[in-house]
Amino acid sequence: MKDYNNILEKLKASGNLRSLPDVVHRGKWIEKEGQTMLNLSSNDYLGLSSRQDLRNEFIGQLQENDLPLSSSSSRLLTGNFPVYSELEELMAGRFGREAALLFNSGYHANTGILPALTDKQSLILADKLVHASIIDGILLSGTPYQRYRHNDNGHLEQLLAKYAHEYEQVFIVTESIFSMDGDVADLRRLVSLKKSYPNTWLYVDEAHAIGVRGKNGLGIAEEQDCIRDIDLLVGTFGKALGSMGAYLLCSRTVREYLVNTMRPLIFSTALPPAQIAWTKFLFEKLPGFTDERLRLSVTSHLLSEALKGKGGEISASHIIPFIIGENEDCIRTSLCLQRKGFYCLPVRPPTVPKGTARIRFSLTADITEEEIKELIMNIGK
Ligand SMILES: *Cc1c(COP(=O)(O)O)cnc(C)c1O
Repeated sequence: MKDYNNILEKLKASGNLRSLPDVVHRGKWIEKEGQTMLNLSSNDYLGLSSRQDLRNEFIGQLQENDLPLSSSSSRLLTGNFPVYSELEELMAGRFGREAALLFNSGYHANTGILPALTDKQSLILADKLVHASIIDGILLSGTPYQRYRHNDNGHLEQLLAKYAHEYEQVFIVTESIFSMDGDVADLRRLVSLKKSYPNTWLYVDEAHAIGVRGKNGLGIAEEQDCIRDIDLLVGTFGKALGSMGAYLLCSRTVREYLVNTMRPLIFSTALPPAQIAWTKFLFEKLPGFTDERLRLSVTSHLLSEALKGKGGEISASHIIPFIIGENEDCIRTSLCLQRKGFYCLPVRPPTVPKGTARIRFSLTADITEEEIKELIMNIGK
């Protein structure tokens, strides 16, 4: 039998042992081991999940509607409450697309959509840095795949020219804002590439961009004005949208096909109707959060400018890496910043390439310019 204890010891010795931290949240602050720190590692990008005013307004409404805290079933059986379709219709309308489909999480979405739509006659071409959930979806699908160099559309074009004609269909898969580097894909370029190969689908995961980018908060696809050209537009409600769950915008046909074939949708209890109602409540208000989006872009710019030459220049978003290199140095620096009241976390291999251990700052709209300036001073010391 495997000695798991021994494996854990080895992980510990190499500085790679993970644990679940005990933390208490107080708005933009986080309390850990008795210390209060500014949370610089949150995905609550617009600060919505900690907004007491929004929560109170929502709970007032909820009492009138009496929405259950469990759906008690998959949507295909008895779990399909009206609030699901209401949110789907709201989203399809906002994005100007034929259809929307909700999932329990981004992880469910990314591990379910590709396995449902692809087969051995398909080819998946995915960016080298796509999220683990997408990789898992590709592996689960058993479909042939290749990874193209990160954000390298030239490399993608070569692969398309070489392989597209050999397969019935090709799926180009990317994120819009990348999780670990915070850089942004050129979606318009991907759309034009896709259009030159008629058997090609474009799949974009906007997990980090939904809510944060675009005039109405609809993501990079809105910012780059190509929402209608992305066949499979995925995002999560667990980050800027301050809730839980995920969505896909697609054609009516794809929606119906997924309802019939997508295993994480069919074989899992749907999210509680009350949770969907909270998502809908926030999604309705999304176009109005322009001040939040503006504040976030100002502080993000400030920090990435200050980190130029240290990894910060890669970022074009509120996710800002500070690349340190070795694991031990990275852990030391993050602990040092934590002692000074800045809750930032080291990200190490295998999450990022070897030798690029980094502190990954992810900013939220409730962090002020003054707080970022103070952080920058402390990084410089
Ligand atoms: C967070 C994330 C997911 C997973 O979404 P959840 O709703 O948290 O399961 C998927 N894709 C990307 C790019 C992410 O960053």
